[in-house]
Amino acid sequence: MQPFDLTGKVAIVTGGNGGIGLGMAKGLAAAGASVVVAGRNAQKSAAAAKEIGGVAIEADVLEEARCRELVAQTVARLGRLDILVNNAGINIRKQPQEYTAAEWHRVLDSNLTSAFLCSQAAYPEMVKAGGGKIIHIGSMMSIFGASFTAPYAASKGGIVQLSRAMACAWAKDNIQVNAVLPGWIDTDLTRRAREQVAGLHERVLSRTPAGRWGEPADFADVAVFLASPASDFLTGTAIPVDGGYSVQG
Ligand code: NDP
Repeated sequence: MQPFDLTGKVAIVTGGNGGIGLGMAKGLAAAGASVVVAGRNAQKSAAAAKEIGGVAIEADVLEEARCRELVAQTVARLGRLDILVNNAGINIRKQPQEYTAAEWHRVLDSNLTSAFLCSQAAYPEMVKAGGGKIIHIGSMMSIFGASFTAPYAASKGGIVQLSRAMACAWAKDNIQVNAVLPGWIDTDLTRRAREQVAGLHERVLSRTPAGRWGEPADFADVAVFLASPASDFLTGTAIPVDGGYSVQG
């Protein structure tokens, strides 16, 4: 058995139509998996699916029913589900006192509740498949705070604890659940952050030992590792992929 071979496996990547999600989707597809790219923007998803030879399914993960339908459609079209990457996420940047309750819920629901609901929908299919791999996406805000990210940091701290709890619950079913904590990566999300937060670009460069912003391609192989038999005894971890940002004193 090749430890990094995903031939015959079926993966869903939420938010797989751009940024880090597409970086991971490309890695999974290159390792042999059939990949479902799930997002709200049908055009973007279709283009991404075409690029990787995968399947696009329109899904707004804010809706519980759509999370269930996403899994059901995947199994209907591709026959099984082995890998789930809960990558969809948003941020709204303000000082804590400025958020409305609706904004708080939107960030928590997009980043944390969606991961819970998609995992819950995936669980019976992974049991049927004899096991599975769930990859959650945290952030440096799973570890650190910042003045402008209260709900985002709460959601990303929560995702690490969600991973640990699911890892404990589902190890008996041969399902491994891990989180990846990206450092600062050049995507649409952080392009907006750089417009909104003065000096962010330079601060990230000076604090990152690797001396650069990350790229979506930096996530291709860590996704393969966490989706493959190579990580069968690894569960409940939160792995920073950050060019050393989180260990710089
Ligand atoms: P992007 O904005 O490029 O991608 C976000 C993706 O999430 C899009 O593909 C979007 O697709 C999808 N998405 C958002 N909301 C929903 C929804 N309700 N339903 C379905 N899909 C949704 O950002 P990144 O690639 O940077 O972010 C990906 C993940 O990585 C997020 O969880 C983010 O928090 C995390 N992250 C990013 C970091 C960075 O530096 N870039 C650092 C740390 C963590 P669509 O518009 O089609 O719905």
